[in-house]
Parts: sequence; structure tokens; C-alpha cells
Amino acid sequence: MRVALIHISQETNDFHPVLTTLADYAAFGIHEGPAILEKARGRAAIDGWIDAIAASGLPVEWVPIVWGVAGAGGRITTEARQFFLDAIRRNLAEAGPLDALAVHLHGACSAVGVDDVEGEQLALIRAMRGADIPLVLSLDHHANVTKLMVDCADAIVAHRTQPHDPYDTGHVAGELMARVLRGEVKPVMAYRKLPLITHQEQFLTAAGPMKDWFEQARAMEADPRVLQVSPCPMQPWLDVAEGGWATIVTTNNDLALANRLADGSADFAWARRHVFMEQTAVPIDEAVRMADAEKSGVVVLSDTGDTVFGGTAGDSNLILESILRQGISGRALVPLISPQNVATLVAAGEGTTVTVELGGTAATDFFTPLPVTGTVRKIAPGRITVPSFTRPNIDQGTTVIFEAGPVTIVLTERRGTAGNVPETYRLFGIEPADFQMAVLKTASNFQYFAPITSRVIRVDTTGPGQSDVKSLPWKRTPRPFFPLDAIEER
Ligand SMILES: [Zn+2]
Repeated sequence: MRVALIHISQETNDFHPVLTTLADYAAFGIHEGPAILEKARGRAAIDGWIDAIAASGLPVEWVPIVWGVAGAGGRITTEARQFFLDAIRRNLAEAGPLDALAVHLHGACSAVGVDDVEGEQLALIRAMRGADIPLVLSLDHHANVTKLMVDCADAIVAHRTQPHDPYDTGHVAGELMARVLRGEVKPVMAYRKLPLITHQEQFLTAAGPMKDWFEQARAMEADPRVLQVSPCPMQPWLDVAEGGWATIVTTNNDLALANRLADGSADFAWARRHVFMEQTAVPIDEAVRMADAEKSGVVVLSDTGDTVFGGTAGDSNLILESILRQGISGRALVPLISPQNVATLVAAGEGTTVTVELGGTAATDFFTPLPVTGTVRKIAPGRITVPSFTRPNIDQGTTVIFEAGPVTIVLTERRGTAGNVPETYRLFGIEPADFQMAVLKTASNFQYFAPITSRVIRVDTTGPGQSDVKSLPWKRTPRPFFPLDAIEER
């Protein structure tokens, strides 16, 4: 049996104005053909796919097509969009006979002038290989699941947890594919769209309404007729024509059951929409004072408006400004991603004391540069290996350690781990556990810092990743939708 393998992933933040280019994919490597099986291995979705199929014992020969991953960011360029369409077209044309297609996409990727990049990719695959060949699609559950995506897939499997475990997602999809290839099951899908977008603060699946919604899905799967239930709470910064949450139920050839359960899953989320909107973030100055007053560190200050894994630039200086203005008794660790600032500080040189305009240049609707006087302590290359990170080999570009009063600012050229992983600092001789507070550029991915964290405080910062979804400048999302409009019926 020959199964094609495709893995393309980017998450778009429409309120971040900097476009995602082919170079952003190239930073993580772009692979075509057999190189994918040699170079793109780790603990990602395709590894789960491959291991599950191997465990099934089926004589599957993988036919790798294309692999490309960029971090979250602004819309992708036309060049990047066309590149992946061409790569699919070229490699699928040469792939020879196929028995199935294993496809992993993010699901929330938009390009300049095209809202549904993944729908377009799937439609191309179908146009080339027909409607009959089985296609199982794995997705990030923050996907915007469109009608076209559902029409093009036989089954959809989305992440089961936040923080995500992409390997698990691929493994579940691979197991389902094995059952399809054995002729054991015939998947059929029902999908419901919800006029709903909520902020990120209730997105963790370990607690609160999201835990309840995902547990409902797992309970539905206890029925052997149910192959997969995938709640998809779309990430809240995608401003597209079909935007909104969705849920997908795949059963073994029982469409009536799939429809009934899809209604049940959609109703469950809709009934809890006000609970999903409960916010925990506190104003910036108050958050800094709370962190300083804690008996011991490290207090994580989550910069919710500048969540790099949610597609922002990582150059917000709002928490830094508050720390420097208010003063603190402990020490603070602040990451900042800015190629311009790195260039300026490299030119100044190690050991010099200078005043620079820090950050605030990427999303100028939200931020302005902040003049800061400090000392350049260290300049070092930022090529690092972090085994615990989803992509272990990371090039953050040149890294500068800049000290300003009680604050150690770590500036990088590229986004990499966005300072959300302690090893990033340790590689430069900085121990995050020695700090009273550390700013993290994420609103969800606290797991890497968890072993040294005394408390997490979500800070209500503005920015392209902000929790206040109501005040974002929505243009394309279909109206009415909750919470922008007061709607009671979905
Ligand atoms: Zn996600």
C-alpha cells in the first residue's frame, strides 16, 4: 500500500501586520520527497502518523510529498501560498499510484487575498487524485474548519489538548487511517459551525469549560460507532469570511448519529459561551506590583497581547515600561524579539552603556518604541537545541543580553522559542529561577517554565494577540457573532 504524506502548517494572526514569507518556513526547513522522512522527524504530527501505521502492521510505503512549517504570524504571502500549491502539484503528479492520503495542516492559515489556504490545498489534492481515495486530515484544533475542508476530507482529527500534543493527534489519525485501509470502517462526517469567537484565557483543556467540552467529545467516542469527535475552538485572531468555532463528528457510516452528536457538541459549547468569556487577566501596573509582592519567584507575567505562539511579533514593551516606571524590589527577565534592536546593540558592542528605543515597531497600531538606557552584557549566536520544544533545533539569530536597572532583557533577531522556554536563557548563562518575575510571550504555553514557576499572572496587555477580542478591528468575520453581537440563538 502506498500512502502520500503532506505536512504544511502556519497559523495566521490577522491583526499582526507583518506578512509571513517563504523565509519564515525556510527557518524551520522546507522538505520535498524522501528528505521529509530523513529531516523532518521529531515528535510532530507526522511522527505520530508514521508510528501508528507502523504499529498497525500494514505494509505501507510512505510517499512523502511536501513538509513546511512556519510559526504563527501575519497572513502568508502569495509567493509562499503558490510555493506550496506548486509543491503539492509537482510531487503528487510524480507520486504514482496511491491508496490513501495522510494530510496534516494547521487549519487557520490565510494568505494575501485568500482566507482559506488549507481548503484550497485540499481542493487541489482532490482535483488531482479524485474523490474516492481516502484522505484523513489532522488539524490543530484552533483551526477555522471550513465547508470546503470538510468536503475534501473523509475524516478529520484535531488536537485533543491545549497545550497541544501534535504527536498524539497524528497517532490518532494514523490509527483511523489504518482501520480505513483494512476496510474495517467507512467514515462519514457531520460538522457544525458556531457564530462564536472567544478570547484565549479559557483555552487550556486542563480546566474550565474547555476541559468540559473536550471531555464530552471523549465520552461520545466511547460509543464504538463513533470514530472521532473534534471540537475546534478557532483561535481568536483570524478575521475571515467563514470564521468561527466548529465541531466535527466522524462515525462509521452512520450519518444520523454523526449529526445528532455534532448538534450535542455544538449546543454544549454554545450554552457555555459566557463561561468561555470569563477573563482572569489583570491590568499591567497591578500585575507587576503583584509579582513583586510574591514571597518568591519565579512569577510568570503572561503578555497576553503579545503571544508569539498566537502570531504576534514579540516586540511589545508594555510590561517592560511598567516595570521600569514603577520600579521593583526583585529582578525581572524580559524577552524581546527585534532585529532592529539587535543590530543597534551589536553595533554598540559588549560592555557599552547606551540608550535605545526598544521594541514597538512591528504592530504600530498597538505599540510605540520605548527609550531605555542599559548595558550590553553579552552578544552571542542564537542557534540552540531545546529537546523539550516541539521543534528541537532553533535558530533565533544573534542574541543580546541587555541589562537596564532590575531588568535583564534578552533580545533575539528571530522568534524561535520567544523566550517561553528556560533553556533559551540557560544557554546564555542566565538562570531564570534566580529571577522574581519573568515575562512570557504566551497566554497558554506555560508548561516549559512550570517546574520553576511560583505563580502565573495573566496581564491584560493590548496587542494583536489581546484577550479583549471585542475591540479588535474585525472586518471579514460573518456577523452577527458572539461576543460582538448580542445573539441568543445560533
Ligand atoms: Zn493551536
